[in-house]
Amino acid sequence: MKMKKTIAAATMLAGSMAALSFMSAGAAQAQGALVMYCGVQEEWCRAMTTAFERETGIKVSMTRKSAGEVYAQVKAEAANPRADIWWGGTGDPHMQAAEEGITEEYKSPKMGELQDWAVRQWEQSKGRTVGIYSGALGFGYNTELAQSKKIGEPKCWADLLKPELKDEVQVADPNSSGTAYTLLATIVQIMGEDKGFEYLKALHKNVNQYTKSGAAPAKAMALGETTAGIAFMHDIVTMVVDKAPVKVVAPCEGTGYEIGSMSIIKGAKNLDNAKKFYDWALTADAQKLGAEAKSYQVPSNKTTPIPPQAPKLNDIKLINFDFAKYGSSAERKRLLSKWDNDVKNLPK
Ligand code: PLP
Repeated sequence: MKMKKTIAAATMLAGSMAALSFMSAGAAQAQGALVMYCGVQEEWCRAMTTAFERETGIKVSMTRKSAGEVYAQVKAEAANPRADIWWGGTGDPHMQAAEEGITEEYKSPKMGELQDWAVRQWEQSKGRTVGIYSGALGFGYNTELAQSKKIGEPKCWADLLKPELKDEVQVADPNSSGTAYTLLATIVQIMGEDKGFEYLKALHKNVNQYTKSGAAPAKAMALGETTAGIAFMHDIVTMVVDKAPVKVVAPCEGTGYEIGSMSIIKGAKNLDNAKKFYDWALTADAQKLGAEAKSYQVPSNKTTPIPPQAPKLNDIKLINFDFAKYGSSAERKRLLSKWDNDVKNLPK
């Protein structure tokens, strides 16, 4: 008798669970989809995708690309946009897209929770892009290689020009990489345009490869494939956390920094879901996923804990980076084509 009751109860429970799971599958389906272009490291992109899907039932289709590449794709698709949200990557191509009107204005109810620099990015773009994290540019070197090659300890941008570092420095191509564009804009702001381009031409002699993605030189340094690498300091910290023999340097002359950004694509087919993602991505809980995925930027929500591994922006000599100027369409295009003509194609 007792057994019969138990079986009956179990059958009812199984029935209602099946009904529930049918309902939640239906609800998930009703939530629809979101197409995201993601500009940070693959691991963090995947963590954001999975957490948002779990929280909302919205199915996310994510593609990771470097900042300049996402911009080029969004621009090429502007007449018939494929993506809904562009999350992450340096702010400059987000600003350029804002100016060109290929991204959408939006004011999130979460704006009040953000750091001033994140809000300023939103204001300067007339509401079309918002700051989600910040981090300083720097370089690093493989301590074992530096020792065996008797290279000493580079401390300044100027040290990267030393003849001992011939073919020993790696950096990305600024056309594809937001990191490398930040370098270009930083050097021009620190040294002035003429001297800055002289520096970049001299650096070219020591560059062994212009990679597509900005964090690639940090990985190559960790693997001992290059002695020095220019990248965001937080990307180099990730290698140090993974116990690579790498030292992170905040250049003595001062350095630039990024405001990693997020924009909604104009004409997004899943606009409501893009706004849901946007609001969620600005919450402290969502921003905590960065450190969990070993990305050590400074988050834009004031209540997200700053990862202890994150380079301390207050201890770094940061320049007063002109995001409006170097994110403007004309200036970005001009500098990139000047770099292509004067630096990239220079014989060694
Ligand atoms: N990875 C991280 C962790 C970043 O913060 C950024 C810039 O926002 C990038 C990568 C930029 O990548 P890329 O230089 O390939 O555009």
